[in-house]
Amino acid sequence: MQVRKLKCSSCGANKVVANATSYMYCDYCGEFIGYDFERMSQEVMSKLSSESRDTDTYNSYMETVTRLGEATSQKDVNAFEKAVIDLHHIEIDLFPERYSPKMKQQAYRNQYNEFYKRFWAERLQNHFFEEQDALQKEMASCMPDFVYTLHEGKITYAFNDAMKKYFDIAKRYAKDSAQKTMASDSIMYYPERMKEGVEDMMFKQTIAGFARMLDADSFKEALSYLGLVNEYIEIPDVILKEEPCLGCGHPFLYPENAQKIVCEQCGVENKPAQHALSCMNCGCDFVPDMQKMETACPQCGSLFIPVKNA
Ligand SMILES: [Zn+2]
Ligand SMILES: [Zn+2]
Ligand SMILES: [Zn+2]
Repeated sequence: MQVRKLKCSSCGANKVVANATSYMYCDYCGEFIGYDFERMSQEVMSKLSSESRDTDTYNSYMETVTRLGEATSQKDVNAFEKAVIDLHHIEIDLFPERYSPKMKQQAYRNQYNEFYKRFWAERLQNHFFEEQDALQKEMASCMPDFVYTLHEGKITYAFNDAMKKYFDIAKRYAKDSAQKTMASDSIMYYPERMKEGVEDMMFKQTIAGFARMLDADSFKEALSYLGLVNEYIEIPDVILKEEPCLGCGHPFLYPENAQKIVCEQCGVENKPAQHALSCMNCGCDFVPDMQKMETACPQCGSLFIPVKNA
């Protein structure tokens, strides 16, 4: 079968099952393996499209983005910290695909929020605004040569030499940020295991953010320029099985011999061989009572809540 050339940094397996979210897990061992930028950009485009405007979430998103911009220009650490955390909470609901499906489970969400809070508290102590200033100036120097079209009030940029230079700066900045994140104290609070190769993923996530202002074709061109296009490879046929998630009942596909599967509907970790769930808080395995509305881990009491996606 033709599969995405994407190797798990933990067990070495290729991604063989199509992902339903931008945040991808290994089909065999359940480790976080990377981001699907195409899905990510599609989500951004649909959520910020004219049809989605004027909803409460959209309005509070725009308001918070403005507030963040103001705090940045005033170099107001407290206002910035508040806005960036507020924005984070809005984005979890506005762009659910950008995050792990595990975010639907409160235990994971709490831990992620803790990481995020600590990350920014730490980051803002270390010349954050000065670095942003220098970066903005460097990036602004590319802008006079940008070529764009205006269509129904939406600006779409072309991927020309000025844009390439802009992306080179963004790429350097993203790499630098990823290294800083990995070296920060907050990283131990990140709810996924941070292994080799994760730094590279974070870099890719950040760089994808810069590509958001491009149209779909230019976005592809940009990803190719940045060396971020996923190639496809042919691997011997894989036998896929289907089973309902023990957390939410939604069926998922998994390759034979898989040890741990992250359900993309509810984020719960299934262990198909043992017909068990794996607790995200304490790591123990247990067989849930499917008759109940919610399942608690017998060891630590963490709740697993069935989530039905719209
Ligand atoms: Zn793996
Ligand atoms: Zn599920
Ligand atoms: Zn537990």
